[in-house]
Amino acid sequence: MIKVTNLKKRFGDLVVLNGIDFEVKDGEVLSIIGPSGSGKSTLIRCLNFLERPEAGVIEIGGVRVDAEKCTNKEIRQLRLQTAMVFQNYNLFKNKTALQNVTESLIVVKKMPKKQAEELGMELLRQVGLEDKRDNYPATLSGGQQQRVSIARALALRPHAILLDEPTSSLDPELVSEVLQTIKKIAEMDTTMIIVTHEMDFARDVSDHVIFMADGNIVEQGPPAELLDNPRKERTKQFLRTFH
Ligand code: ADP
Ligand code: MG
Repeated sequence: MIKVTNLKKRFGDLVVLNGIDFEVKDGEVLSIIGPSGSGKSTLIRCLNFLERPEAGVIEIGGVRVDAEKCTNKEIRQLRLQTAMVFQNYNLFKNKTALQNVTESLIVVKKMPKKQAEELGMELLRQVGLEDKRDNYPATLSGGQQQRVSIARALALRPHAILLDEPTSSLDPELVSEVLQTIKKIAEMDTTMIIVTHEMDFARDVSDHVIFMADGNIVEQGPPAELLDNPRKERTKQFLRTFH
């Protein structure tokens, strides 16, 4: 499971995470919603130390890191527990779809190339792109590129996948194929934390939703409660902007 306790991050004088606490059980999907600038990306990036938090304890898949006293070795172990899917895909441009998926298997896991390619093809099948194995990113649509990046995230079998607005860069007609792919992966009991503005998707797929504003968790709960029956005025106000 994932457990985050009293996570704090500031940029200069700006407090971006003001003591964040939450848990995600194995196989569950957590959605994080909230206005732009509320600290959602910083939160997700602190979980793998892409941003270094000032304080807090992060536990993922049995690895526990206390931000105030941790070694580089502990940070490396923590990073192996998650894989990130970015808004802008971040694929290797000079590698094919299959090579993007197999790269970490060959480099990190030292898997023989043939075995990595078999697993890579299995992952491309899961995201519906087996016929695109030899395509370079420039020849794929945004939706296809994001599906490759999801297959790449799955390759190392991380404890959890972290997705930061995975559909925000896509043309509207490409959003649903990526959401369908994420939903399918979630239904395979993948533990996920997803920052999203897709409220219908969050309602459909999440076990738990967090609403953030100004570096704080304003409210959290099951999607039916938080999205359809919020208690806090700040949450109601935010959700009204989606109607
Ligand atoms: P969100 O993802 O919810 O839109 P972010 O986590 O990206 O919010 O940003 C939260 C706040 O932190 C914003 O005010 C943003 O300008 C600021 N911020 C984010 N990254 C940096 C950085 N590297 N340096 C300085 N300020 C940053
Ligand atoms: Mg963001």
